[in-house]
Amino acid sequence: MAQRTGCMIAIDGPAGSGKSTVARAVADRVGYTYIDTGAMYRAVALMAMRRGLDVEDDAEEIGALASELDFEFRATDAGAQHLFVNGEDVEREIRTPEVGNHSSPVSAIPRVREHLVAAQRAMARRRPVVMEGRDIGTVVFPDALLKVFLTASAEERARRRYTELHQRGEDVSYREVLAAQKERDERDSNRAIAPLRKAEDAVEVDTDDMTVEDVVHHVMGLLVERLRESDEQGA
Ligand code: C5P
Repeated sequence: MAQRTGCMIAIDGPAGSGKSTVARAVADRVGYTYIDTGAMYRAVALMAMRRGLDVEDDAEEIGALASELDFEFRATDAGAQHLFVNGEDVEREIRTPEVGNHSSPVSAIPRVREHLVAAQRAMARRRPVVMEGRDIGTVVFPDALLKVFLTASAEERARRRYTELHQRGEDVSYREVLAAQKERDERDSNRAIAPLRKAEDAVEVDTDDMTVEDVVHHVMGLLVERLRESDEQGA
């Protein structure tokens, strides 16, 4: 069988729905490349912050800045994946709550999205990928083999993110995490371009009462089904 390329699995959903954990685990199991598009928007936000650019006043400059950035995901010796921007490892810096909050308005700038979507499509050109974000099934890869939309209640998602941030040593309260998440969800869902929404043909998975292993198992089952269907159509 010929090696498949392109977006094999598109995973979308709101902040804290478990997209990264699930996408990474599924990609590992099937040997596809995992791509975290949120990291790319966070990186643009970080670079804009470093240059002192304001999202409202300097949207044009931030768009131009995005076009100068070269994104590369590299595996580390410890088995993790880090994002390098113009050769610099920005993984640690892009994960702070401040950069996370900033990335939402930055990602609503049309030129930023244009550059990042082009870079994301290029990443899947020569290899099979599992890509996660907000608009993968709707905009970046509307023809992805499998589309999954992960959800969970706002409280459960905030609890997960709070635990994650605490483990990383960030000093934030649960209430702060919940409030920031609400604001981000609202902005991501209501922006004019590529708002967060489920693609019509995506499978919605409510993860509230599921363990990570349950979700991974479920997505693996869906993938096997889609691969079989696509092989039968191609036969
Ligand atoms: O997934 P993560 O929380 O790291 O994403 C950070 C921000 O990047 C999101 O709040 C969203 O505004 C933006 N984003 C986006 N489109 C994507 C991925 C992330 O607009 N495909």
